[in-house]
Amino acid sequence: MDLNAPDRTLRIGGRPLPVVGPARMYVCGITPYDATHLGHARTFVWADVAARVLRHAGAEVRVCRNVTDVDDVLDQAAHRAGSPYDSFAAVQQFYFERDLEVLGVHAVDLQPRAHTHVSEVVALAQGLLAAGLAYVRDGAVLFRGGDVPQRAGLDAGRAHDLLAEYGDAPDDPGKEDPFDVAVWRPSRSGEPAWPSPWSAGRPGWHAECAAMAMTAFGPALDLHAGGADLRFPHHAYEAAMAEALTGVRPFSRAWLHVGMVCRDGVKMAKSTGNLVLVSDLVQDHPAAAVRFMLLTEPWAREWDYTPGALDRAAADLERLHLAAGRGNSSTAAEAAVERALLDDLDVRTALGVAEEEGGRTARLAMRILALG
Ligand SMILES: [Zn+2]
Repeated sequence: MDLNAPDRTLRIGGRPLPVVGPARMYVCGITPYDATHLGHARTFVWADVAARVLRHAGAEVRVCRNVTDVDDVLDQAAHRAGSPYDSFAAVQQFYFERDLEVLGVHAVDLQPRAHTHVSEVVALAQGLLAAGLAYVRDGAVLFRGGDVPQRAGLDAGRAHDLLAEYGDAPDDPGKEDPFDVAVWRPSRSGEPAWPSPWSAGRPGWHAECAAMAMTAFGPALDLHAGGADLRFPHHAYEAAMAEALTGVRPFSRAWLHVGMVCRDGVKMAKSTGNLVLVSDLVQDHPAAAVRFMLLTEPWAREWDYTPGALDRAAADLERLHLAAGRGNSSTAAEAAVERALLDDLDVRTALGVAEEEGGRTARLAMRILALG
C-alpha cells in the first residue's frame, strides 16, 4: 500500500465516508408489480455508480438490494392479473433485473425478498415490544414513532400528510400517537397472511426493510440508497425501528436519496400514467446512452425527462467515445476525474474533464461509470 497516495475517501452529501473493511450498502429495491421506468432506473443506476466509485477507490463493497414482494399495490396488481402474488412478483422481478442488466447495473451480492423475512419482522416486533418501544392493538404491533417526524426535520402537518399518503393511517383512532406505524398488522381477507403471536397478518413496509437490512448487515450500514420519495416515512421509520431495537446510531452513516424523475414537471409514476419505460427506450437507442442520460443531472436533484434528452445523451456519449480514441492524456487529468467522482459522485465534472482531455482519461471515466 502506498502510504503517500492521495486521499481516496468518497464524500456523500458533503460528508466524508471513510471505510475500513467491506462497505455495507443497502439499496431500497422495487415492489415488483410493473415494468421498470426511468424513475426506478435513475435510482438504481446512481446506486450502482456509488458502488463502482467506492470499489474503484479500493473498498470492498457488498450490495444488498431488497425486493418488496409483500405489498398492497402488488397484491392488487396480482389479483387483477389472476396470479398468486409470489409468482406474479417473480415474473416482474425477472423483467426488472433484465432491464437493470441492460443498463449496466452490476449484479448485487444479496437480494432478500420480503416474504422470506417474515420471521425476522416478527423478531423485530418482539424486540421492540420487550423494550416498551411498541404496543399491541387489535392484532397489530405499533411502533412508538412520536419523535420520528421531528428527527426527520418535518413539522407535524407535513409528517401527517406524508404518513397518510403512504398508507400509514395517522388518523387511526387505535393509535396512541398519530406518528406510530405498524411493524405488524392483521391481513384483510384475501391478502397474504402469516401466523404471529398477535394475528394472522403481515409485516409493515418500513419494518420489512429494517429486518432485511439488519439480516444482511447487522445493526448498521455504511450507505443506504433509494429514491428521494422514500426519505419519509419509509427510510425515517426503517432507521428509527432499527436504532430503537439495537441502540446503534446512526443506522446508516450516509444516504443516497436520488432525486425524482419528472416529465413536464410531474413526477413519473404509474398513478399519473406518464411512465417512460427502459425497455422502450433501448429499442432504438444504445443502452449506454440511456445510462448516460440518467447521469446527466446530479443525483440529489430532480430531473425532468424530455424526449430530446436521449438523443442529446447519445450524441454526448458518441463524443466521449471519439475523445477516448485520442492519444495519451495526463495523469493529472486522470486524478481530476477520480477526485470529481469521489466528491459527491460529481459525474458532470468528471465527464467534462474526460471529454476535454480524451485518451486514457476518457477511458478511465467510461470504465468507472460503466459507459463502455
Ligand atoms: Zn426500503
